[in-house]
Amino acid sequence: MNVLMISAEMTPFAKVGGLADVVDALSRALADRKHDVRVVLPLYGHLDRTAEKIVPIRSLPPLTARVGQRIHDFRFWRRGSAQARVKIYLVECDDLFGRPGIYTQPGGDAFGDSLARASLHAQAALLLPRLFDWPVEVIHAHDAEAVPALLYRRQWYAERGLPGPGGTLLTIHNLAHQEVHPAAAVETLGLPAGMAAYPGLLEFQGQLNLLKAGILAADQVNTVSPNYANETRTTRMFGCGLEEMLASRQDSYTGILNGADYGTWDPARDRNLPANYSSTRLEGKEKCREALCAELKLAVAGKAADQGPLCGFVGRLVRQKGVDLLLPLLDRLAADGFRFAILGTGEARLEDAMRVVAAKHPGRISFSGQFDEGLAHRIYAGSDLFLMPSEFEPCGLSQMYALKYGTPPVVRRTGGLADTVVDATATGPGRKGTGFVFDEARPEALLGALRRAEKLWRNPDDWGRLQRRGMACDFSWAEAAATYEGVYQRAVTTGASHE
Ligand code: ADP
Repeated sequence: MNVLMISAEMTPFAKVGGLADVVDALSRALADRKHDVRVVLPLYGHLDRTAEKIVPIRSLPPLTARVGQRIHDFRFWRRGSAQARVKIYLVECDDLFGRPGIYTQPGGDAFGDSLARASLHAQAALLLPRLFDWPVEVIHAHDAEAVPALLYRRQWYAERGLPGPGGTLLTIHNLAHQEVHPAAAVETLGLPAGMAAYPGLLEFQGQLNLLKAGILAADQVNTVSPNYANETRTTRMFGCGLEEMLASRQDSYTGILNGADYGTWDPARDRNLPANYSSTRLEGKEKCREALCAELKLAVAGKAADQGPLCGFVGRLVRQKGVDLLLPLLDRLAADGFRFAILGTGEARLEDAMRVVAAKHPGRISFSGQFDEGLAHRIYAGSDLFLMPSEFEPCGLSQMYALKYGTPPVVRRTGGLADTVVDATATGPGRKGTGFVFDEARPEALLGALRRAEKLWRNPDDWGRLQRRGMACDFSWAEAAATYEGVYQRAVTTGASHE
């Protein structure tokens, strides 16, 4: 099938979170199954064009698009090789994308022109099939940012006689990010005003809501784990107000578990690590732990009675990730000998709180408030435990990486975490589990899980078995890609019935 993917993120060009890894790995897994996948991304101002090996496509005519009242010039760049298995196109438009930041400015404030950016991104992407005489069969939009493509496609394809598309799929990576704007902002999108007025497609509680429109407009909708699909269609807390819209899609709304890209995330081959290791040769992990402690100036590893496990955390510092559950425990746990390697950026209040607690416990708590891919790998490898106490978690990739790196995750039973981690202590004498799972979103519940983990960690034989069970888990993309293929086929069938 000819699949056009539209996303604001893709590894290695632009990454805020899991979406970037998913778009990269899923598109390659689909290409392995002989699909022709082309991804369209904005060319952000911070992207290093030489390092990322992208080149302008000079053979195309000058291109323009109207966004609101303004006409913007834009052109396409592509990843060096025209023979690449997955073709990646980047939209250069200095007015809208020529500055650093994907959703927010470097200080954390959201861009005021995010709708205009999304509109131009979608318009450019939808032109691609005509520019390359490439009849697209499926438009696969990721998250609210890509929804304008779903809104434009029927109008455009009908008016301009463009080839395709057969069907559309919206993948929701996080229901909490909906792109909500004042109703009058519909003018930016160039869509009829009625669409943003009750009971229009875009209207939700008196405002323009892109994600809501996408849920109704796409031929198929999915999210990134079966459990999160159920949570979001049945409860307001997880559905973030859109639960009824999701429920109304019935069988057209499904959950497909993300995969982990073991080409990048494999401790046996990872070049970011000071030593490699596998489930049969775990000695390298010991070296990784020592090196991590040296790098972050943490007390050296060991299992003396006063030394607890080294706990890693890599993630966005936002409420969703359960940082509020962890913070109140850090003083006590550091006093008990636990060590923490924390890497993340996000809300200023959480970053500040992390800085303060880390300064109080030198040698026990290290906080790195930046985005650092290499350090992330070294934390997955060098830690004993991986913390992911999320309040909600659409799928979560970090716990899958932690499992592969022999670092049992401590997770809350929610979303994709519940689909991927089995508790090692609740199931009896630790024969089946892969990590530690707790239920209530309270610090005490997380503390209980950490105490259970510490107990097992002090028994090297049980711990080694637990690590190896986690390392044997296989969340590879091949299975997910096959499931997406089925959804694409359903999208094409549904799409055809609208024509
Ligand atoms: P989400 O998409 O909600 O952020 P996921 O667990 O799906 O959560 O994916 C998070 C991804 O982002 C992982 O690859 C994780 O290692 C990475 N990541 C998050 N914060 C950082 C950071 N500060 N530095 C490096 N990598 C990070």
